[in-house]
Amino acid sequence: MHKVIRILPESLVLKIAAGEVIQRPDAVVKELIENSLDGGATKISIIIKQAGKEFIQVNDNGSGIPKNEVLTAFASHATSKIENLEDLTKITTFGFRGEALASIASVSQVEIKTKYSADEIGTKLIINGGEVLEESKISFSEGTSITVKNLFYNTPARREFFKSNSTEFKHIYDVVERFALSNPKVAFQFISDDEELMNFSLNTQTERIANLFGENFLETLIPFKEETEILSINGFIGKPEFSKKTKSTQYLFLNNRFIINRAINHAVFAGYENLVIKGNFPFVLLHLQINPSKVDVNVHPSKLEVKFVDESLVYKFVLTVVRKAIAQHLNPVILEQTKILYGNNFSDNSFQNSKGIDSAKIAESIIVSTIPNFQFPKNFESLNNIPIDVTQNNINQFEHEKKKDKIEEGMSIWQIHNKYILAQIKTGIMIIDQHVAHERILYEKALQNFENQLPTTQQLLFTQLLHLAPNDYQLLNELLPFLLQLGFEIKEFGKNTFAIDGVPTDVKPGKESTIIQEILTEYKQNQNQIKLNARDNIAKSFACKSAIKAGDSLTENEMRVLIDQLFATKIPYVCPHGRPVMIKISIQELDKRFFRT
Ligand code: ADP
Ligand code: MG
Repeated sequence: MHKVIRILPESLVLKIAAGEVIQRPDAVVKELIENSLDGGATKISIIIKQAGKEFIQVNDNGSGIPKNEVLTAFASHATSKIENLEDLTKITTFGFRGEALASIASVSQVEIKTKYSADEIGTKLIINGGEVLEESKISFSEGTSITVKNLFYNTPARREFFKSNSTEFKHIYDVVERFALSNPKVAFQFISDDEELMNFSLNTQTERIANLFGENFLETLIPFKEETEILSINGFIGKPEFSKKTKSTQYLFLNNRFIINRAINHAVFAGYENLVIKGNFPFVLLHLQINPSKVDVNVHPSKLEVKFVDESLVYKFVLTVVRKAIAQHLNPVILEQTKILYGNNFSDNSFQNSKGIDSAKIAESIIVSTIPNFQFPKNFESLNNIPIDVTQNNINQFEHEKKKDKIEEGMSIWQIHNKYILAQIKTGIMIIDQHVAHERILYEKALQNFENQLPTTQQLLFTQLLHLAPNDYQLLNELLPFLLQLGFEIKEFGKNTFAIDGVPTDVKPGKESTIIQEILTEYKQNQNQIKLNARDNIAKSFACKSAIKAGDSLTENEMRVLIDQLFATKIPYVCPHGRPVMIKISIQELDKRFFRT
Protein backbone atom coordinates (compact mmCIF):
# COMPACT_ATOMS: atom_id res chain seq x y z
CA MET A 1 0.00 0.00 0.00
CA HIS A 2 1.54 3.27 -1.10
CA LYS A 3 1.28 6.14 1.28
CA VAL A 4 1.36 9.60 -0.21
CA ILE A 5 4.63 11.51 0.00
CA ARG A 6 3.98 14.45 2.30
CA ILE A 7 6.09 17.13 3.85
CA LEU A 8 6.39 16.44 7.56
CA PRO A 9 4.96 19.02 9.95
CA GLU A 10 7.51 21.20 11.69
CA SER A 11 6.63 19.76 15.10
CA LEU A 12 7.52 16.26 13.92
CA VAL A 13 10.68 17.39 12.13
CA LEU A 14 11.91 18.74 15.45
CA LYS A 15 11.47 15.32 17.05
CA ILE A 16 13.62 13.61 14.47
CA ALA A 17 17.35 13.56 14.89
CA ALA A 18 18.93 15.39 11.97
CA GLY A 19 19.69 13.14 9.05
CA GLU A 20 23.05 12.29 7.73
CA VAL A 21 24.85 15.05 5.96
CA ILE A 22 25.99 13.81 2.58
CA GLN A 23 29.75 13.95 2.90
CA ARG A 24 31.06 11.57 0.33
CA PRO A 25 29.85 9.35 -2.49
CA ASP A 26 29.22 6.30 -0.32
CA ALA A 27 26.47 8.17 1.55
CA VAL A 28 24.66 8.80 -1.75
CA VAL A 29 24.92 5.13 -2.67
CA LYS A 30 23.64 4.11 0.74
CA GLU A 31 20.63 6.44 0.64
CA LEU A 32 19.65 5.41 -2.88
CA ILE A 33 19.89 1.68 -2.18
CA GLU A 34 17.85 2.16 0.99
CA ASN A 35 15.15 3.93 -1.00
CA SER A 36 15.09 1.08 -3.51
CA LEU A 37 14.74 -1.50 -0.75
CA ASP A 38 12.05 0.55 0.98
CA GLY A 39 10.30 0.71 -2.39
CA GLY A 40 10.10 -3.06 -2.47
CA ALA A 41 12.70 -3.67 -5.15
CA THR A 42 13.82 -7.24 -5.80
CA LYS A 43 16.46 -6.18 -8.28
CA ILE A 44 18.91 -3.34 -7.80
CA SER A 45 21.82 -2.29 -9.94
CA ILE A 46 24.46 0.20 -8.86
CA ILE A 47 26.71 1.82 -11.42
CA ILE A 48 29.52 4.16 -10.43
CA LYS A 49 32.31 5.97 -12.22
CA GLN A 50 35.44 7.48 -10.72
CA ALA A 51 34.57 6.06 -7.30
CA GLY A 52 31.24 7.85 -7.44
CA LYS A 53 32.79 11.28 -7.67
CA GLU A 54 31.55 11.76 -11.23
CA PHE A 55 28.68 9.35 -11.59
CA ILE A 56 26.39 7.26 -9.39
CA GLN A 57 23.35 5.49 -10.72
CA VAL A 58 20.95 3.23 -8.86
CA ASN A 59 18.24 1.39 -10.77
CA ASP A 60 15.50 -0.66 -9.20
CA ASN A 61 12.32 -2.54 -10.04
CA GLY A 62 10.46 -1.29 -6.97
CA SER A 63 7.14 0.51 -6.66
CA GLY A 64 8.22 3.67 -8.42
CA ILE A 65 6.92 7.12 -7.47
CA PRO A 66 3.46 8.33 -8.53
CA LYS A 67 3.72 10.99 -11.27
CA ASN A 68 2.26 13.80 -9.20
CA GLU A 69 4.52 13.10 -6.22
CA VAL A 70 7.93 13.02 -7.86
CA LEU A 71 8.58 16.72 -7.29
CA THR A 72 7.47 16.49 -3.68
CA ALA A 73 9.91 13.63 -3.09
CA PHE A 74 12.74 16.13 -3.59
CA ALA A 75 11.43 18.61 -1.04
CA SER A 76 12.99 18.74 2.42
CA HIS A 77 11.33 16.46 4.95
CA ALA A 78 9.13 14.88 2.33
CA THR A 79 8.45 11.24 3.02
CA SER A 80 5.84 8.58 2.49
CA LYS A 81 7.15 6.52 5.37
CA ILE A 82 5.89 8.29 8.49
CA GLU A 83 3.01 10.64 9.15
CA ASN A 84 2.92 11.22 12.88
CA LEU A 85 4.81 10.81 16.10
CA GLU A 86 3.38 7.38 16.71
CA ASP A 87 4.81 6.05 13.44
CA LEU A 88 8.23 7.00 14.73
CA THR A 89 8.01 4.21 17.33
CA LYS A 90 7.39 1.45 14.82
CA ILE A 91 9.65 2.11 11.91
CA THR A 92 10.18 -0.79 9.57
CA THR A 93 11.77 1.11 6.69
CA PHE A 94 15.33 2.35 6.30
CA GLY A 95 14.24 5.92 5.61
CA PHE A 96 11.78 8.11 7.50
CA ARG A 97 13.36 11.56 7.60
CA GLY A 98 12.58 12.57 4.04
CA GLU A 99 15.88 14.36 3.66
CA ALA A 100 18.02 12.24 1.40
CA LEU A 101 16.70 13.14 -2.05
CA ALA A 102 16.48 16.81 -1.13
CA SER A 103 20.00 17.04 0.14
CA ILE A 104 21.52 14.96 -2.67
CA ALA A 105 19.76 17.08 -5.28
CA SER A 106 20.98 20.32 -3.71
CA VAL A 107 24.66 19.41 -4.19
CA SER A 108 24.72 17.56 -7.48
CA GLN A 109 23.11 17.08 -10.88
CA VAL A 110 20.29 14.59 -10.48
CA GLU A 111 18.18 12.85 -13.03
CA ILE A 112 15.32 10.63 -11.96
CA LYS A 113 13.23 8.35 -14.13
CA THR A 114 10.43 6.57 -12.40
CA LYS A 115 7.11 4.92 -13.06
CA TYR A 116 4.63 4.12 -10.35
CA SER A 117 3.13 0.68 -10.80
CA ALA A 118 -0.45 1.98 -11.09
CA ASP A 119 0.45 4.84 -13.49
CA GLU A 120 0.53 4.37 -17.26
CA ILE A 121 3.24 6.87 -17.85
CA GLY A 122 6.54 7.56 -16.19
CA THR A 123 8.19 10.78 -15.06
CA LYS A 124 11.60 12.26 -15.72
CA LEU A 125 13.00 15.07 -13.67
CA ILE A 126 16.32 16.87 -13.93
CA ILE A 127 17.45 18.90 -10.93
CA ASN A 128 20.76 20.74 -10.75
CA GLY A 129 21.85 22.14 -7.42
CA GLY A 130 18.30 21.97 -6.15
CA GLU A 131 16.86 23.77 -9.18
CA VAL A 132 14.35 21.89 -11.32
CA LEU A 133 15.52 22.15 -14.95
CA GLU A 134 13.17 19.77 -16.62
CA GLU A 135 10.09 17.76 -15.82
CA SER A 136 8.63 15.54 -18.50
CA LYS A 137 6.46 12.51 -19.10
CA ILE A 138 8.35 9.54 -20.43
CA SER A 139 7.65 5.95 -21.17
CA PHE A 140 9.48 3.91 -18.62
CA SER A 141 9.07 0.25 -17.91
CA GLU A 142 9.17 -0.05 -14.14
CA GLY A 143 10.73 1.10 -10.93
CA THR A 144 13.08 3.98 -10.41
CA SER A 145 16.41 5.05 -11.82
CA ILE A 146 18.30 7.86 -10.14
CA THR A 147 21.54 9.28 -11.54
CA VAL A 148 23.71 11.56 -9.46
CA LYS A 149 26.44 13.36 -11.40
CA ASN A 150 29.31 15.56 -10.23
CA LEU A 151 28.67 15.48 -6.53
CA PHE A 152 29.47 18.86 -4.91
CA TYR A 153 30.00 20.47 -8.34
CA ASN A 154 28.46 23.66 -6.90
CA THR A 155 30.44 23.57 -3.65
CA PRO A 156 33.98 22.93 -4.90
CA ALA A 157 35.44 23.26 -1.41
CA ARG A 158 33.65 20.07 -0.41
CA ARG A 159 35.15 18.17 -3.29
CA GLU A 160 38.52 18.87 -1.70
CA PHE A 161 37.54 16.52 1.08
CA PHE A 162 37.19 13.58 -1.24
CA LYS A 163 39.78 10.95 -0.57
CA SER A 164 41.61 9.09 -3.30
CA ASN A 165 39.54 7.08 -5.74
CA SER A 166 40.66 3.84 -4.16
CA THR A 167 39.55 4.97 -0.70
CA GLU A 168 36.20 6.32 -1.87
CA PHE A 169 35.67 3.17 -3.89
CA LYS A 170 36.37 1.01 -0.84
CA HIS A 171 33.72 2.91 1.14
CA ILE A 172 31.17 2.37 -1.61
CA TYR A 173 32.09 -1.27 -1.98
CA ASP A 174 31.57 -1.80 1.76
CA VAL A 175 28.15 -0.20 1.54
CA VAL A 176 27.06 -2.32 -1.42
CA GLU A 177 28.51 -5.44 0.16
CA ARG A 178 26.53 -4.94 3.36
CA PHE A 179 23.27 -4.55 1.47
CA ALA A 180 24.00 -7.49 -0.80
CA LEU A 181 24.91 -9.62 2.21
CA SER A 182 21.82 -8.77 4.22
CA ASN A 183 19.35 -8.89 1.35
CA PRO A 184 19.93 -12.22 -0.39
CA LYS A 185 16.38 -12.16 -1.69
CA VAL A 186 17.25 -9.12 -3.77
CA ALA A 187 19.30 -9.45 -6.95
CA PHE A 188 22.30 -7.12 -6.95
CA GLN A 189 24.46 -5.88 -9.76
CA PHE A 190 27.39 -3.59 -9.10
CA ILE A 191 29.43 -1.99 -11.86
CA SER A 192 32.39 0.29 -11.26
CA ASP A 193 34.10 2.01 -14.20
CA ASP A 194 32.50 -0.46 -16.61
CA GLU A 195 33.70 -3.44 -14.63
CA GLU A 196 30.99 -5.71 -13.28
CA LEU A 197 31.96 -6.54 -9.69
CA MET A 198 28.76 -8.20 -8.54
CA ASN A 199 25.96 -9.87 -10.38
CA PHE A 200 23.96 -11.90 -7.92
CA SER A 201 20.60 -13.37 -8.64
CA LEU A 202 18.01 -14.18 -6.00
CA ASN A 203 19.81 -16.23 -3.38
CA THR A 204 19.61 -17.88 -0.05
CA GLN A 205 21.77 -16.40 2.69
CA THR A 206 24.29 -19.19 2.29
CA GLU A 207 24.53 -18.72 -1.46
CA ARG A 208 24.97 -15.01 -1.02
CA ILE A 209 27.83 -15.52 1.39
CA ALA A 210 29.46 -17.85 -1.13
CA ASN A 211 28.91 -15.23 -3.84
CA LEU A 212 30.63 -12.56 -1.83
CA PHE A 213 33.37 -14.44 -0.06
CA GLY A 214 33.86 -17.59 -2.09
CA GLU A 215 32.51 -21.10 -1.93
CA ASN A 216 35.25 -22.34 0.43
CA PHE A 217 34.53 -19.64 2.93
CA LEU A 218 31.37 -21.41 4.03
CA GLU A 219 33.49 -24.20 5.47
CA THR A 220 34.99 -21.80 7.99
CA LEU A 221 31.59 -20.84 9.38
CA ILE A 222 29.23 -22.14 12.03
CA PRO A 223 25.56 -21.33 11.42
CA PHE A 224 23.28 -20.41 14.31
CA LYS A 225 19.64 -19.66 14.79
CA GLU A 226 17.41 -19.05 17.76
CA GLU A 227 13.89 -17.73 17.88
CA THR A 228 11.74 -16.40 20.66
CA GLU A 229 8.59 -14.35 20.57
CA ILE A 230 10.30 -11.01 20.97
CA LEU A 231 13.75 -11.68 19.62
CA SER A 232 15.16 -13.80 16.93
CA ILE A 233 18.69 -14.21 15.85
CA ASN A 234 20.42 -16.04 13.07
CA GLY A 235 23.61 -15.90 11.14
CA PHE A 236 27.07 -17.34 10.98
CA ILE A 237 30.15 -17.08 13.12
CA GLY A 238 33.64 -18.04 12.10
CA LYS A 239 35.11 -21.17 13.54
CA PRO A 240 37.50 -19.89 16.19
CA GLU A 241 40.49 -21.34 14.37
CA PHE A 242 39.85 -19.10 11.38
CA SER A 243 39.84 -15.75 13.16
CA LYS A 244 41.70 -12.90 11.52
CA LYS A 245 43.61 -9.85 12.60
CA THR A 246 41.20 -7.43 10.97
CA LYS A 247 37.97 -6.16 12.40
CA SER A 248 36.27 -5.62 9.07
CA THR A 249 34.54 -8.96 9.00
CA GLN A 250 31.87 -8.17 11.57
CA TYR A 251 28.45 -7.65 10.10
CA LEU A 252 25.68 -6.86 12.54
CA PHE A 253 22.20 -6.25 11.22
CA LEU A 254 19.29 -5.20 13.34
CA ASN A 255 15.98 -5.63 11.55
CA ASN A 256 18.12 -5.74 8.43
CA ARG A 257 19.78 -2.43 9.15
CA PHE A 258 23.58 -2.48 9.38
CA ILE A 259 24.47 -1.38 12.86
CA ILE A 260 27.32 -0.86 15.20
CA ASN A 261 26.63 -1.89 18.75
CA ARG A 262 29.30 -2.44 21.30
CA ALA A 263 27.19 -4.61 23.55
CA ILE A 264 26.48 -7.10 20.79
CA ASN A 265 30.09 -7.12 19.67
CA HIS A 266 31.19 -7.74 23.18
CA ALA A 267 28.68 -10.51 23.65
CA VAL A 268 29.90 -12.24 20.50
CA PHE A 269 33.52 -12.15 21.62
CA ALA A 270 32.58 -13.22 25.11
CA GLY A 271 30.82 -16.18 23.51
CA TYR A 272 34.11 -17.36 22.08
CA GLU A 273 35.54 -17.52 25.59
CA ASN A 274 39.27 -17.52 25.03
CA LEU A 275 39.22 -19.61 21.92
CA VAL A 276 40.27 -16.66 19.83
CA ILE A 277 43.67 -15.19 20.48
CA LYS A 278 43.80 -11.61 21.63
CA GLY A 279 43.83 -9.13 18.79
CA ASN A 280 42.19 -11.57 16.39
CA PHE A 281 38.63 -11.26 15.22
CA PRO A 282 36.35 -14.00 14.05
CA PHE A 283 33.94 -13.51 11.16
CA VAL A 284 30.49 -12.58 12.38
CA LEU A 285 27.31 -12.20 10.39
CA LEU A 286 24.49 -11.63 12.80
CA HIS A 287 20.90 -10.80 12.00
CA LEU A 288 18.89 -9.70 14.95
CA GLN A 289 15.17 -9.30 14.50
CA ILE A 290 13.45 -7.50 17.28
CA ASN A 291 10.12 -5.82 17.71
CA PRO A 292 10.70 -2.29 16.28
CA SER A 293 9.18 -0.73 19.39
CA LYS A 294 12.19 -2.00 21.40
CA VAL A 295 14.66 -0.21 19.20
CA ASP A 296 15.35 3.46 18.92
CA VAL A 297 16.63 4.07 15.40
CA ASN A 298 16.25 7.79 15.84
CA VAL A 299 19.49 8.12 17.77
CA HIS A 300 22.46 8.88 15.64
CA PRO A 301 22.45 10.79 12.39
CA SER A 302 24.36 8.08 10.60
CA LYS A 303 21.74 5.64 11.88
CA LEU A 304 24.51 3.15 12.52
CA GLU A 305 24.50 3.19 16.27
CA VAL A 306 21.40 1.87 17.92
CA LYS A 307 20.34 1.56 21.52
CA PHE A 308 18.20 -1.13 23.02
CA VAL A 309 15.66 -0.58 25.73
CA ASP A 310 16.94 -3.71 27.44
CA GLU A 311 20.58 -3.94 26.49
CA SER A 312 21.38 -6.67 29.00
CA LEU A 313 18.68 -8.93 27.60
CA VAL A 314 20.08 -8.59 24.11
CA TYR A 315 23.57 -9.15 25.48
CA LYS A 316 22.62 -12.36 27.26
CA PHE A 317 20.71 -13.58 24.27
CA VAL A 318 23.58 -13.09 21.84
CA LEU A 319 26.07 -14.55 24.28
CA THR A 320 23.91 -17.62 24.82
CA VAL A 321 23.44 -18.28 21.16
CA VAL A 322 27.10 -17.79 20.24
CA ARG A 323 28.26 -20.00 23.07
CA LYS A 324 25.87 -22.70 22.11
CA ALA A 325 26.93 -22.57 18.47
CA ILE A 326 30.59 -22.81 19.40
CA ALA A 327 30.02 -25.57 21.90
CA GLN A 328 28.19 -27.55 19.24
CA HIS A 329 30.98 -26.93 16.79
CA LEU A 330 33.62 -28.08 19.22
CA ASN A 331 31.63 -31.09 20.22
CA PRO A 332 28.54 -32.12 18.29
CA VAL A 333 27.69 -34.58 21.03
CA ILE A 334 26.95 -31.67 23.31
CA LEU A 335 23.60 -30.97 21.80
CA GLU A 336 22.49 -34.49 22.54
CA GLN A 337 23.80 -34.24 26.07
CA THR A 338 21.94 -31.00 26.50
CA LYS A 339 18.72 -32.58 25.45
CA ILE A 340 19.22 -35.40 27.88
CA LEU A 341 20.09 -33.04 30.71
CA TYR A 342 17.59 -30.29 30.13
CA GLY A 343 14.97 -31.79 27.88
CA ASN A 344 14.16 -30.63 24.42
CA ASN A 345 13.16 -27.16 25.44
CA PHE A 346 16.59 -25.61 25.46
CA SER A 347 15.82 -23.62 22.37
CA ASP A 348 12.16 -23.15 23.06
CA ASN A 349 10.37 -19.85 23.13
CA SER A 350 10.86 -19.29 26.80
CA PHE A 351 13.45 -16.57 26.51
CA GLN A 352 11.04 -13.72 27.12
CA ASN A 353 10.10 -14.84 30.60
CA SER A 354 12.25 -15.56 33.62
CA LYS A 355 12.90 -19.05 32.37
CA GLY A 356 14.65 -17.40 29.48
CA ILE A 357 17.42 -16.13 31.66
CA ASP A 358 17.91 -19.68 32.76
CA SER A 359 18.66 -20.66 29.21
CA ALA A 360 21.68 -18.37 29.46
CA LYS A 361 22.71 -20.27 32.55
CA ILE A 362 22.13 -23.54 30.83
CA ALA A 363 24.33 -22.42 28.00
CA GLU A 364 27.05 -21.55 30.48
CA SER A 365 26.89 -24.96 32.01
CA ILE A 366 27.11 -26.52 28.57
CA ILE A 367 30.38 -24.83 27.92
CA VAL A 368 31.72 -26.08 31.20
CA SER A 369 30.61 -29.55 30.35
CA THR A 370 32.34 -29.63 26.99
CA ILE A 371 35.51 -30.22 28.92
CA PRO A 372 34.90 -33.31 30.99
CA ASN A 373 36.37 -33.33 34.43
CA PHE A 374 39.40 -35.38 33.75
CA GLN A 375 39.81 -38.49 35.83
CA PHE A 376 43.02 -40.41 35.59
CA PRO A 377 41.88 -43.43 33.63
CA LYS A 378 42.23 -47.05 34.57
CA ASN A 379 42.05 -48.05 30.96
CA PHE A 380 44.20 -45.97 28.64
CA GLU A 381 42.48 -47.03 25.45
CA SER A 382 39.31 -45.30 26.48
CA LEU A 383 41.17 -42.03 26.67
CA ASN A 384 41.53 -41.55 22.97
CA ASN A 385 40.31 -38.22 21.68
CA ILE A 386 39.09 -36.98 25.01
CA PRO A 387 40.27 -33.43 25.58
CA ILE A 388 42.27 -33.36 28.75
CA ASP A 389 41.62 -30.60 31.15
CA VAL A 390 44.39 -29.82 33.55
CA THR A 391 42.48 -28.83 36.63
CA GLN A 392 44.22 -28.14 39.89
CA ASN A 393 42.74 -31.28 41.39
CA ASN A 394 44.22 -33.47 38.75
CA ILE A 395 47.59 -31.84 39.07
CA ASN A 396 47.70 -32.47 42.80
CA GLN A 397 46.82 -36.05 42.16
CA PHE A 398 49.71 -36.34 39.71
CA GLU A 399 52.16 -34.62 42.05
CA HIS A 400 51.62 -37.40 44.54
CA GLU A 401 52.02 -40.08 41.90
CA LYS A 402 55.09 -38.45 40.40
CA LYS A 403 56.97 -38.67 43.70
CA LYS A 404 56.54 -42.42 43.83
CA ASP A 405 57.74 -42.82 40.26
CA LYS A 406 61.10 -41.14 40.74
CA ILE A 407 63.94 -43.14 39.30
CA GLU A 408 66.06 -44.19 42.18
CA GLU A 409 69.35 -42.45 42.71
CA GLY A 410 72.32 -44.13 41.00
CA MET A 411 70.16 -46.63 39.13
CA SER A 412 70.90 -47.44 35.50
CA ILE A 413 68.51 -46.76 32.68
CA TRP A 414 68.39 -48.52 29.32
CA GLN A 415 67.13 -47.78 25.88
CA ILE A 416 65.49 -50.80 24.27
CA HIS A 417 65.01 -51.15 20.51
CA ASN A 418 65.72 -47.42 20.16
CA LYS A 419 62.11 -47.00 21.18
CA TYR A 420 61.56 -47.47 24.91
CA ILE A 421 63.38 -46.43 28.02
CA LEU A 422 63.52 -48.90 30.87
CA ALA A 423 64.21 -47.82 34.45
CA GLN A 424 63.89 -49.02 38.02
CA ILE A 425 61.55 -47.13 40.31
CA LYS A 426 60.75 -47.66 43.96
CA THR A 427 57.67 -49.74 43.33
CA GLY A 428 58.96 -51.78 40.41
CA ILE A 429 59.96 -50.98 36.83
CA MET A 430 58.86 -48.32 34.40
CA ILE A 431 58.89 -48.45 30.59
CA ILE A 432 58.63 -45.10 28.83
CA ASP A 433 57.74 -44.56 25.19
CA GLN A 434 60.41 -42.03 24.17
CA HIS A 435 58.41 -40.38 21.38
CA VAL A 436 55.25 -39.95 23.38
CA ALA A 437 57.18 -38.69 26.40
CA HIS A 438 58.88 -36.04 24.33
CA GLU A 439 55.55 -35.14 22.77
CA ARG A 440 54.06 -34.45 26.19
CA ILE A 441 57.03 -32.25 27.10
CA LEU A 442 56.87 -30.22 23.89
CA TYR A 443 53.09 -29.93 24.06
CA GLU A 444 53.12 -28.36 27.51
CA LYS A 445 55.99 -26.14 26.50
CA ALA A 446 54.04 -24.93 23.48
CA LEU A 447 51.03 -24.13 25.63
CA GLN A 448 53.30 -22.18 27.98
CA ASN A 449 54.71 -20.25 25.06
CA PHE A 450 51.18 -19.30 24.04
CA GLU A 451 50.50 -18.14 27.58
CA ASN A 452 53.47 -16.00 28.38
CA GLN A 453 56.95 -17.35 28.13
CA LEU A 454 59.38 -16.16 25.56
CA PRO A 455 60.22 -18.85 23.07
CA THR A 456 63.80 -19.71 22.27
CA THR A 457 64.69 -19.53 18.63
CA GLN A 458 67.65 -20.91 16.82
CA GLN A 459 68.56 -18.71 13.87
CA LEU A 460 69.15 -20.43 10.58
CA LEU A 461 72.38 -19.71 8.78
CA PHE A 462 70.57 -19.55 5.46
CA THR A 463 66.97 -18.50 5.01
CA GLN A 464 64.85 -21.42 3.90
CA LEU A 465 62.15 -20.74 1.36
CA LEU A 466 58.95 -22.68 1.71
CA HIS A 467 56.71 -22.96 -1.33
CA LEU A 468 53.22 -24.07 -0.49
CA ALA A 469 50.01 -25.09 -2.19
CA PRO A 470 47.56 -22.16 -2.10
CA ASN A 471 45.34 -23.70 0.58
CA ASP A 472 48.36 -24.49 2.77
CA TYR A 473 49.62 -21.00 2.20
CA GLN A 474 46.31 -19.67 3.43
CA LEU A 475 46.36 -21.99 6.43
CA LEU A 476 49.91 -21.04 7.37
CA ASN A 477 48.95 -17.41 7.12
CA GLU A 478 46.18 -18.00 9.61
CA LEU A 479 48.37 -20.01 11.96
CA LEU A 480 51.31 -17.63 11.74
CA PRO A 481 50.70 -15.88 15.07
CA PHE A 482 50.83 -19.24 16.86
CA LEU A 483 54.01 -20.33 15.12
CA LEU A 484 55.73 -17.06 15.98
CA GLN A 485 54.80 -17.63 19.60
CA LEU A 486 56.40 -21.04 19.43
CA GLY A 487 59.68 -19.50 18.30
CA PHE A 488 59.47 -19.84 14.54
CA GLU A 489 60.72 -16.87 12.57
CA ILE A 490 58.68 -16.90 9.42
CA LYS A 491 57.51 -14.20 7.11
CA GLU A 492 55.58 -13.97 3.89
CA PHE A 493 57.78 -13.99 0.85
CA GLY A 494 55.83 -13.46 -2.32
CA LYS A 495 53.27 -15.68 -3.90
CA ASN A 496 52.49 -18.84 -1.90
CA THR A 497 55.93 -18.63 -0.35
CA PHE A 498 57.24 -18.10 3.15
CA ALA A 499 60.78 -17.44 4.29
CA ILE A 500 61.98 -19.26 7.42
CA ASP A 501 64.75 -17.50 9.31
CA GLY A 502 64.58 -19.39 12.56
CA VAL A 503 62.99 -22.36 14.26
CA PRO A 504 62.34 -23.23 17.93
CA THR A 505 65.37 -24.77 19.61
CA ASP A 506 63.42 -28.00 20.06
CA VAL A 507 63.31 -28.65 16.33
CA LYS A 508 65.77 -31.35 15.48
CA PRO A 509 68.71 -30.32 13.29
CA GLY A 510 68.01 -31.24 9.69
CA LYS A 511 64.27 -30.85 10.03
CA GLU A 512 64.22 -27.07 9.69
CA SER A 513 62.85 -27.06 6.18
CA THR A 514 60.32 -29.88 6.52
CA ILE A 515 58.90 -29.25 9.97
CA ILE A 516 56.40 -26.56 8.90
CA GLN A 517 54.93 -28.70 6.16
CA GLU A 518 54.68 -31.62 8.58
CA ILE A 519 52.93 -29.46 11.16
CA LEU A 520 50.42 -28.26 8.56
CA THR A 521 49.67 -31.82 7.50
CA GLU A 522 49.23 -32.98 11.07
CA TYR A 523 47.12 -29.92 11.82
CA LYS A 524 44.73 -30.69 8.98
CA GLN A 525 44.53 -34.32 9.99
CA ASN A 526 43.69 -33.41 13.58
CA GLN A 527 41.06 -31.08 12.29
CA ASN A 528 39.36 -33.86 10.40
CA GLN A 529 39.40 -36.27 13.27
CA ILE A 530 38.68 -34.23 16.32
CA LYS A 531 37.43 -30.72 16.68
CA LEU A 532 40.19 -28.87 18.43
CA ASN A 533 40.71 -25.19 18.81
CA ALA A 534 43.51 -23.83 16.67
CA ARG A 535 45.85 -23.20 19.56
CA ASP A 536 45.54 -26.69 20.98
CA ASN A 537 45.79 -28.25 17.56
CA ILE A 538 48.96 -26.37 16.68
CA ALA A 539 50.52 -27.24 20.04
CA LYS A 540 49.75 -30.89 19.43
CA SER A 541 50.91 -30.85 15.84
CA PHE A 542 54.14 -29.11 16.74
CA ALA A 543 54.79 -31.49 19.64
CA CYS A 544 54.10 -34.55 17.51
CA LYS A 545 56.28 -33.47 14.63
CA SER A 546 59.22 -32.09 16.61
CA ALA A 547 59.48 -34.92 19.11
CA ILE A 548 62.15 -37.59 18.85
CA LYS A 549 60.91 -40.66 17.05
CA ALA A 550 60.97 -44.36 17.59
CA GLY A 551 64.28 -45.40 16.06
CA ASP A 552 66.23 -42.40 17.35
CA SER A 553 69.13 -43.62 19.42
CA LEU A 554 69.58 -41.74 22.72
CA THR A 555 72.61 -41.38 24.96
CA GLU A 556 72.17 -42.04 28.67
CA ASN A 557 72.41 -38.33 29.33
CA GLU A 558 69.72 -37.57 26.77
CA MET A 559 67.47 -40.16 28.41
CA ARG A 560 67.96 -38.66 31.86
CA VAL A 561 67.20 -35.15 30.59
CA LEU A 562 64.11 -36.49 28.88
CA ILE A 563 62.86 -38.21 32.03
CA ASP A 564 63.57 -35.15 34.17
CA GLN A 565 61.66 -32.95 31.77
CA LEU A 566 58.84 -35.45 31.57
CA PHE A 567 58.33 -35.45 35.31
CA ALA A 568 58.40 -31.68 35.31
CA THR A 569 55.26 -31.63 33.14
CA LYS A 570 51.81 -31.38 34.61
CA ILE A 571 50.57 -34.72 33.33
CA PRO A 572 53.50 -36.99 32.54
CA TYR A 573 51.31 -40.06 32.15
CA VAL A 574 49.40 -39.43 28.95
CA CYS A 575 50.41 -37.88 25.68
CA PRO A 576 48.35 -35.01 24.24
CA HIS A 577 46.44 -37.48 22.09
CA GLY A 578 45.57 -39.61 25.10
CA ARG A 579 48.05 -42.41 24.60
CA PRO A 580 49.96 -43.68 27.65
CA VAL A 581 53.48 -42.32 28.06
CA MET A 582 54.63 -45.07 30.35
CA ILE A 583 53.77 -48.46 31.66
CA LYS A 584 54.63 -49.39 35.21
CA ILE A 585 54.99 -52.94 36.42
CA SER A 586 55.05 -53.34 40.16
CA ILE A 587 57.23 -55.78 42.06
CA GLN A 588 54.07 -57.51 43.22
CA GLU A 589 53.00 -57.99 39.62
CA LEU A 590 56.39 -59.44 38.69
CA ASP A 591 56.35 -61.68 41.77
CA LYS A 592 52.93 -62.94 40.83
CA ARG A 593 54.05 -63.73 37.30
CA PHE A 594 56.98 -65.73 38.61
CA PHE A 595 54.73 -67.46 41.15
CA ARG A 596 56.71 -65.97 44.00
CA THR A 597 53.62 -65.36 46.08
P1 ADP B 1 12.87 8.90 3.08
O1 ADP B 1 13.49 7.69 2.48
O2 ADP B 1 13.44 9.22 4.42
O3 ADP B 1 11.39 8.86 3.09
P2 ADP B 1 13.99 10.24 0.78
O4 ADP B 1 14.32 11.66 0.55
O5 ADP B 1 15.08 9.27 0.69
O6 ADP B 1 13.27 10.16 2.17
O7 ADP B 1 12.86 9.84 -0.25
C1 ADP B 1 11.65 10.59 -0.30
C2 ADP B 1 10.50 9.73 -0.75
O8 ADP B 1 10.66 9.42 -2.15
C3 ADP B 1 10.37 8.40 -0.06
O9 ADP B 1 9.62 8.51 1.12
C4 ADP B 1 9.66 7.55 -1.10
O10 ADP B 1 8.27 7.73 -1.03
C5 ADP B 1 10.13 8.15 -2.43
N1 ADP B 1 11.22 7.37 -3.05
C6 ADP B 1 12.51 7.70 -3.13
N2 ADP B 1 13.21 6.78 -3.81
C7 ADP B 1 12.35 5.81 -4.17
C8 ADP B 1 12.47 4.58 -4.89
N3 ADP B 1 13.65 4.13 -5.35
N4 ADP B 1 11.35 3.85 -5.08
C9 ADP B 1 10.15 4.27 -4.61
N5 ADP B 1 9.99 5.43 -3.94
C10 ADP B 1 11.05 6.22 -3.71
MG1 MG C 1 15.47 7.56 1.92
